[in-house]
Amino acid sequence: MNCRLCQKELDAYQEGVLPEGTRSQVENHLGECKECSESFKLVGLANKVMADEKSMQSNPFLVTRIMANIGELGNNQAGYQPIPFYQKVLKSALVAFSVAAAIFLGIMEGNFNTPTQSTTKLPVEMTYMNDVVLESVDLLSQI
Ligand SMILES: [Zn+2]
Repeated sequence: MNCRLCQKELDAYQEGVLPEGTRSQVENHLGECKECSESFKLVGLANKVMADEKSMQSNPFLVTRIMANIGELGNNQAGYQPIPFYQKVLKSALVAFSVAAAIFLGIMEGNFNTPTQSTTKLPVEMTYMNDVVLESVDLLSQI
């Protein structure tokens, strides 16, 4: 028996439904082949997990507790009180004030960071520059 055939028959071997000849062939191969015996262990583990999962019982009170909590939520919403008028006005005034403050701060930040010195002051190197050696644009335009 080769590995492919053995692994194909592993499920049936696990369930004990293989005919006698095939079953002994699978057992012989599992004794010889390490890879197939590992697969056989995995199949056994998977079957055990599935069997455990099937035997799990659900908590009968879970549904009752969930439904009770949902009922409580409904009762709380029935007792919900609307927000008073002055709180609504206060809230909208606070939002408007926040927006105005944000715009004002943005404008102030922009004004403080404008480079005003570079337009009025010349760099020190420019004051030492000799204008006499530079050619005049007027002189060039006459040619
Ligand atoms: Zn094998």
